[in-house]
Amino acid sequence: MCGIIGIVSNDRHVASLLRECLKRLEYRGYDSVGITTIYNSTLHTKKDKGKIDEIHRKLNFDTLPGHIGIGHTRWATHGPPSKRNAHPHMDCTGKIAVVHNGIIENFLELRKQLEEKGHVFQSDTDTEVIPHLIEEYIATGYNLADAVRETLKQLKGSYAIAVIYAEEPDKIVCARKDSPLVIGVGEKVVYCASDIPAFLPMTNKVIFLNDGELAILTPYSVTVQNLEGEVLTKEVKIINWTAEMAQKGGFPHFVLKEIHEQPRAIRDTLRTRQEYVDVFVESIMKAKRIYFVAAGTSYHAGLTATYMFSKLAKTYSQAVIASEFPEFIGETLDEDTVIVAITQSGETADTLTAVRHATKYGAKILAITNVLGSSITRLAHHTFYMQAGPEIGVVATKTFTTQLATLALITINLARQNGTLTDVEAKQLFEELYQIPAKVKEIIETHEERAKTLAEKCYLKNNFYFLGRGISTATALEGALKLKEISYIHAEGYPAGESKHGPIALIEPGYPCVFIAPMDETHKHIIGNIMEMKARGAEIIAVIDKSDQDVSQLADTAFKMPSTPAIFTPITYIIPLQLFAYYVAVKRGADPDKPRNLAKSVTVV
Ligand code: GLU
Repeated sequence: MCGIIGIVSNDRHVASLLRECLKRLEYRGYDSVGITTIYNSTLHTKKDKGKIDEIHRKLNFDTLPGHIGIGHTRWATHGPPSKRNAHPHMDCTGKIAVVHNGIIENFLELRKQLEEKGHVFQSDTDTEVIPHLIEEYIATGYNLADAVRETLKQLKGSYAIAVIYAEEPDKIVCARKDSPLVIGVGEKVVYCASDIPAFLPMTNKVIFLNDGELAILTPYSVTVQNLEGEVLTKEVKIINWTAEMAQKGGFPHFVLKEIHEQPRAIRDTLRTRQEYVDVFVESIMKAKRIYFVAAGTSYHAGLTATYMFSKLAKTYSQAVIASEFPEFIGETLDEDTVIVAITQSGETADTLTAVRHATKYGAKILAITNVLGSSITRLAHHTFYMQAGPEIGVVATKTFTTQLATLALITINLARQNGTLTDVEAKQLFEELYQIPAKVKEIIETHEERAKTLAEKCYLKNNFYFLGRGISTATALEGALKLKEISYIHAEGYPAGESKHGPIALIEPGYPCVFIAPMDETHKHIIGNIMEMKARGAEIIAVIDKSDQDVSQLADTAFKMPSTPAIFTPITYIIPLQLFAYYVAVKRGADPDKPRNLAKSVTVV
């Protein structure tokens, strides 16, 4: 997830304006930054690895000349953060510059074709195929807009792009598919940006671009077309948000925005190139022992993965809390051991310590993280990047579901490779997995109000149990952790079957018990556990399959989920619990974005 900006003006020097706009987009990514302007029919570029202010002090962006330019603040997905990978990216002639947010899935094959035609690439990014493709079309006589349109037809994946061309110095061509892009209309100046806050101090007149649309911007005009070149009529909307509201996309808190971003984040994660999955699967298949090592929410993802592995791939693995790992494992590991280290920031000190311990004994380290270039990536043999984009809220939401999507992807591939799933079965599961983003969207749309109503009903309770069986045990633990972290209510996650061996002693009338009860093989047993709690007066809240009549009748409140294979329910069933925790926190007057005593990335052991 990056921030992109483009500005075309009739007379204004745009470099400092571009820099200020980028600053307001920095929350979308901050590992490198770059600006390109056109002056005297020549492109002028400054870019480097680092944050905007840091690079500005070094390079002084404001001296870039010209009335038109594009800028980018990067959150790397393809190629480490570095000067050469920083956007804008150019073609071979150095006349076309592109900024991009998203992932071009077929870039390897496009790059190969372009290299065969003699194009020389300067970066490791997927983005760079775009300027080279545009160059190809321009060389055959197309103008910039037509060349961009033809290029887009060749791209698979997601993109928001802004393109400038030194020989058409009065325009920006921009387009989007599955990545955000909005246009701001000012007085003799037009903007395009990933998000409204970028240009909100200058204009509140906005044109929203839809997927599959392309726009040609000049200081005086905005022409929007579809990919067939037909001109579309677009409405200019007036936005009445404050700058802070705009940065949160109109949501009151980043956490809520990030909960809503999950369909996009999961979809992008599932787009990761197959070779990243293959190297994981290959190492796991060779291993004699497999440990998922992680802390907090990431540990819950690891615990979920152990159930996915045993159920689907008939492979035994164990999840171990990172801070316990060195003591737990002692010297009982060797080069036949695989450690799957899961850390959203890549900087979790407990996980890094555990990994260093394992490295001493020759274990193979596989990392799953959201941050390219983070410390874990230097310790790991192989790294898989979730594509959640920066998560600003302290508690993990979209990084959890993208970890789960990653682990599901790895599990199905493992099961196919080791023969526990046939190709046909694996294909069906992949198809189901690719439907998860749409299901998550549906859940948010249909259950947000219910989560809010429930929060209003029980925000004054002092204790909660979250109970699940099988794979849902991890979901129960995560649901409890969310509530604890942002609302400060005591909540305990427990395996439902174990609840009768102790925890049930606390039940009294009105005690809230949240059951995570999908229609899997544990379903009939969890009904018994619900009955036990209900008999003692507990208030039953249940997350269930929409076809589940039994639990629906037992529950005081039921969140009915779209059906999905049991193995994926941890991704969908956590969504109402995230929303519930959020609305309880709000109702109690806590700040869900900055819970007390917690830090986003825990860098102490
Ligand atoms: N894929 C591009 C890169 O790695 C853009 C990154 C993004 O938008 O997240 O540079």
